[in-house]
Amino acid sequence: MHMATAAIYSSTTTAAVCHDNGALFLPLRLRPSSLDKRSTRIRFPLAPPTMPASHVLCKAGTEASFGDLRSGIAEFYDESSGVWEDMWGDHMHHGFYDLPPPQNLVNHRDAQIRMIEETLSFAAISEEDFKKPRRVVDIGCGIGGSSRYLAKKYGAHVQGITLSPLQAQRAAALTASQGLSDKVVFQVADALDQPFPDGQFDLVWSMESGEHMPDKVKFMQELVRVAAPGGSIIIVTWCHRDLLPGETSLQPSEQELLDKICGAYYLPAWCSTADYVRMAQALSLQNIKTADWSENVAPFWSAVISSAISWRGMMGLLKSGWKTIKGAFAMLHMVKGYKQGLIKFAVITAQKPA
Ligand code: SAH
Repeated sequence: MHMATAAIYSSTTTAAVCHDNGALFLPLRLRPSSLDKRSTRIRFPLAPPTMPASHVLCKAGTEASFGDLRSGIAEFYDESSGVWEDMWGDHMHHGFYDLPPPQNLVNHRDAQIRMIEETLSFAAISEEDFKKPRRVVDIGCGIGGSSRYLAKKYGAHVQGITLSPLQAQRAAALTASQGLSDKVVFQVADALDQPFPDGQFDLVWSMESGEHMPDKVKFMQELVRVAAPGGSIIIVTWCHRDLLPGETSLQPSEQELLDKICGAYYLPAWCSTADYVRMAQALSLQNIKTADWSENVAPFWSAVISSAISWRGMMGLLKSGWKTIKGAFAMLHMVKGYKQGLIKFAVITAQKPA
């Protein structure tokens, strides 16, 4: 563990949650292990001199410190990545589907590749020789599916980071077996305290890892710090719906549903797409674009549920352990959340000023 990270996670921390009406709720100085509910409302300025951290865990996670959250995430992926790979291959993210969803048989693994392609094209990443990304960082890289894909597509050097030692090992083994070890490397490291100097990467890629970050502001700051001037930043992540005018929080029943999901997938408090936009603006990013792809990913969950209840899926779950089984059950909550418009599958892209 990096010392700086240990300090962030174990020391008294100023916590805040961003809200869609432009306000931050800033609970007093809190110890993560004893989060309380008192909050002081402050306006979220577009360019705060020092950006406060959004450190509030979902209710389900309030007993856990951030260190516990980190080790929970690592153990969850150490335990579940094998069974996922067995059923789904090396991409641990949603597929992207046409609208209306196709009635005929779809290859879901192709849909996962399509997710990468749709994301790159939404972010307008150039394929031209002089403009294509040459140095890429894959934040929350899983077993390196995106890392290898981007390395092959652009001939880029890619560095992947994950909290799970097993994922990093497996990612390296798969990469070696494809003869890509000179281009793609992995390490266990924290996205909130990245082991990279400033201004390194033409493309900063975070595919479905943002939802795990207990401090969304620090997460964004780190993505921007390691991006090269003019570099692109891509975040594909689970968000909760934007708050309506006059709302200061989600409805209690909505929060309850998210709490159940947080407990199963080791997630801290969620934020909305609008919160990401405000953070990106506060960091002076340019060409900020977002899209809601919730409907485009809808067929994926039923496919995952079917695979989990297949014979092979069941055997895999039983062999892998309790965390994975809990995760499988939580898929039902995810489907419910998507259906009621509470959970959004969001893409946020932007560029660091040149
Ligand atoms: N992007 C990959 C994997 C998504 S699963 C893919 O599309 O296949 C989520 C990943 O986020 C896991 O690899 C997990 O270890 C990583 N992650 C979660 N929190 C992290 C953190 N604080 N720092 C680095 N990686 C993190």
